[in-house]
Amino acid sequence: MENDLLRWFAANLPSHERLVVGAGDDAAVIRLADGQQLVATTDMLMDGVDFRVGEHDAARIGHKALAVNLSDLAAMGARPVAALVSLCLPQVGGELLTKQLYQGLLATAAKYDVAIAGGDTNSWPGPLVISVTALGEVAPQRAWRRSGAQAGDRILVTGRFGGSILGRHLDAVPRVTEALWLAEHADVHAAIDVSDGLSLDLSRVCEASRCGAVLDLGSIPISPDAEQLARERNDGATPLDHALADGEDFELVLVVPPSEAERLVALQPLGVPLTAIGTISDQPGLWSRGSDGKEQPLAPRGWEHRIES
Ligand SMILES: [Mg+2]
Repeated sequence: MENDLLRWFAANLPSHERLVVGAGDDAAVIRLADGQQLVATTDMLMDGVDFRVGEHDAARIGHKALAVNLSDLAAMGARPVAALVSLCLPQVGGELLTKQLYQGLLATAAKYDVAIAGGDTNSWPGPLVISVTALGEVAPQRAWRRSGAQAGDRILVTGRFGGSILGRHLDAVPRVTEALWLAEHADVHAAIDVSDGLSLDLSRVCEASRCGAVLDLGSIPISPDAEQLARERNDGATPLDHALADGEDFELVLVVPPSEAERLVALQPLGVPLTAIGTISDQPGLWSRGSDGKEQPLAPRGWEHRIES
């Protein structure tokens, strides 16, 4: 399982005096010589898993490859600066495909003022693979970590959840502007972006912070896509199930003190809805609170890469 391997990395990668945050968060934070902090993240997307060449417009694929990385920088409260783009192209049609990918990728880079600083271009007898490394900056000691949640904190989310597989995952809007506003104007204890599923990613914050979370199920913002997917699949999974477990929403989960949550939810400063969905508790694990006020264990669910031994 991917989670086991991630724990193995966390336990086995050596610490380094330059590493403020190492493997196991949304991005690494690296101390530079003059005290500034570099935030670095990388994400690899594969044809057949994260998109389908031929079925999806290549410009949207190029956008997604950069956007998912910017989402990880946003989850650290970092300002994006530059990106490196590595392509492993199929041996036939690779040149045209590259130019189409870059249409979307460069438009998104321009939108967020990100320099495309280079990369690597290979080909092989397999399908398209894109790996983007995004670099950002953050003031010393200001990066948002997964590990800063405290019992009593409130859990806020941007946007709505579920059903992104209907197409929204290709047009992901990284919450960069929102994160930069919050980094300047709000007290954020912990954060993560939702790439693998709201409940699974929230459980990662809990694990890193050695705490638990109680979710008010009635307050989870459900995307119209989740409603549509539940209707179309008709397999017993409700829109709420999709909102809790579907991946690639690329929204932010923000853990803030209760008074700050109240202020932000009333203020709605972001242009995208900010919703309180639950509370951090010192009882480990995820819990759901129904309309009757009863708490029940909630199994974290979401996308995990299958890695077999
Ligand atoms: Mg992330």
